[in-house]
Amino acid sequence: MKKKTDRATLKEAFDIHLRAAKDVQKYCPHVFAANIIYAAVNAVIPFATIYLSARIIDELAGLRRAEELAFWVTLTVCVEAALGIVRSLLYRWMDAECELFYKHRNTIFIEKMLHMDYADADKQETHDKRTQIQQSEGWGGWGLNYLPMYAEWLTDGVTGVLGAVALTVTLFTRQVPETAGNLTFLNHPLCVLAMLGAMAVCSGLFAVLANYANAVYAGTAEESRFGNRVFGNFMFFSYDQKSNMDVRMYKQLDMAEHYTKTVPTFGVGSPHDRIFRGPYSISISLGKGISKVFAGIVYLFVCLKAWGGAFGVGSVTQYVGAVTALYSNLSFLFQTFGHMRSNAGFLRTVYEFLDIPNSMYMGSLTTEKRSDRQYEVEFKDVSFKYPGSEIWALRHVNMKFKVGNRLAVVGENGSGKTTFIKLLCRLYDPQEGEIRLNGIDIRKYNYRQYMDVFSVVFQDFQLVSQSLGANVAGREEYDRERAEQALIDAGFGERLSQLPEGLDTFLYKEFGREGIDVSGGEAQKIAIARALYKDAPFIILDEPTAALDPIAEAEIYSKFNDIVGDKTAIYISHRLSSCKFCDEIAVFHQGRVIQQGSHESLLADEHGKYHELWHAQAQYYTEEA
Ligand code: ADP
Repeated sequence: MKKKTDRATLKEAFDIHLRAAKDVQKYCPHVFAANIIYAAVNAVIPFATIYLSARIIDELAGLRRAEELAFWVTLTVCVEAALGIVRSLLYRWMDAECELFYKHRNTIFIEKMLHMDYADADKQETHDKRTQIQQSEGWGGWGLNYLPMYAEWLTDGVTGVLGAVALTVTLFTRQVPETAGNLTFLNHPLCVLAMLGAMAVCSGLFAVLANYANAVYAGTAEESRFGNRVFGNFMFFSYDQKSNMDVRMYKQLDMAEHYTKTVPTFGVGSPHDRIFRGPYSISISLGKGISKVFAGIVYLFVCLKAWGGAFGVGSVTQYVGAVTALYSNLSFLFQTFGHMRSNAGFLRTVYEFLDIPNSMYMGSLTTEKRSDRQYEVEFKDVSFKYPGSEIWALRHVNMKFKVGNRLAVVGENGSGKTTFIKLLCRLYDPQEGEIRLNGIDIRKYNYRQYMDVFSVVFQDFQLVSQSLGANVAGREEYDRERAEQALIDAGFGERLSQLPEGLDTFLYKEFGREGIDVSGGEAQKIAIARALYKDAPFIILDEPTAALDPIAEAEIYSKFNDIVGDKTAIYISHRLSSCKFCDEIAVFHQGRVIQQGSHESLLADEHGKYHELWHAQAQYYTEEA
């Protein structure tokens, strides 16, 4: 079987680029047109110059007629000016389209990431692939980046070849007159063949060398990846506001320096340094040398023909220019094909990522929007392992809870509490057993509608640099009264009343100085307000208060209990004191529910885990007790 890192054949390279071009075309419908038209006009301009200046020189060296000269000079000036203006306008268009493309190129990946099954998005493998794509883009521009350029380069090359052929044909058809004696050998077909042969050999050699250089350059991507990560991670260390204190306190910059010195990314000994001192530069220089040798052959052939009387001095500039252009455009085309072969390997990785299938069953049943909010959830013998893991994160979990209940899920860290919530929210599906909503397997419900049933405040919740109101509502347009109420209910009312811009206050300073910073506790309140605003029948707090002390957490939890009203609330915590007010407490241990009941009944069981944990933690909350 072929290794993924193998260099692609030309056909594979074309196929994968064609596929990528179709995908890019969907996001940026004009980017290829802009590049192709610009490149075609740009490629034609030198030939217009070659042709017109040859006419002027011919006239100057020949009959020297004033009107003819005036005609050619005027035409040259007008054509050059017109083409120059058109080229500038087209360049602006192409530039704007490319800018759009660079923006949309990221959209392709962002959309994929957002629509991917959570289970896949959460995998390290997926994350690695995405980082690999990003790093290849950053390192050598490899991947989708090159597509508009290929459109430009290929058009440039093909137009260049066609234009050069058009101006070169007469070089071979215009004969040296018999009077030129020995020089008539230049008319011989073998001589023409020798010239064409020299061009084929030289451009072929140039292409081989350039392709080799390209492959060597592309080959450094893999080796440079780790160094690039180190650089990306440590170089911007000191800019990061959040880590600035740690950086100073623990002299982390020294650690960063050690890494950046021992892992050569850019300096002496780096992969770039090695190839630029060796194979890359040697092959590029050899290629340039061959081009010069060929230019010498062309000069010799053209000048001998002119000396023999086949054409005038003006035509010498035309033919030398045209044949050299033919050679360089041919070489450029070959070089582009080679570049595409190198890029194909990077596009493979892009498609390994974009082709990750969505295998999660999406369901079609509508979740009843019950005005009585009578929902019942049941875990029926549910077992679950994370992808790639051999350990059951949950094993034979049975649990039933009704709307309006206050359920607490407690247990030590790693006992499976968060996993239980992830399964409930269908971020993952269990391998065994079934989770039911009102008696029906949750997989059968329309996924989007099912998600509307839950509001979760995760432990590592994220707020965004947007207005406070938009953060609470999750969108720009929202019900201001409800957003304000949610913030007041969540305990953010006092701070809100002190903010002159109220709900329009920007969070964080990423988008401007006027943004505000909020403390960890305030951020939690905003995250809770967001969950309240969603007004879902189930509301879940997954230890968003883990950074607080046990007493503060218990306060927030019991206050929250008053706010949630008739909703079903699930509280997750490894601190038992926070949850003792709940109707029902489930004790998780090593992925199993080992006890279930009210605080009093659980505490009464002196041999139970709850009793053990309660007493182990008691020292933290005797004050509260
Ligand atoms: P808790 O919320 O009680 O702290 P979790 O539900 O997060 O526990 O974790 C339960 C078990 O699953 C732990 O052994 C943990 O290491 C494992 N686990 C959690 N997340 C993942 C993951 N994404 N991949 C593999 N194992 C995981």
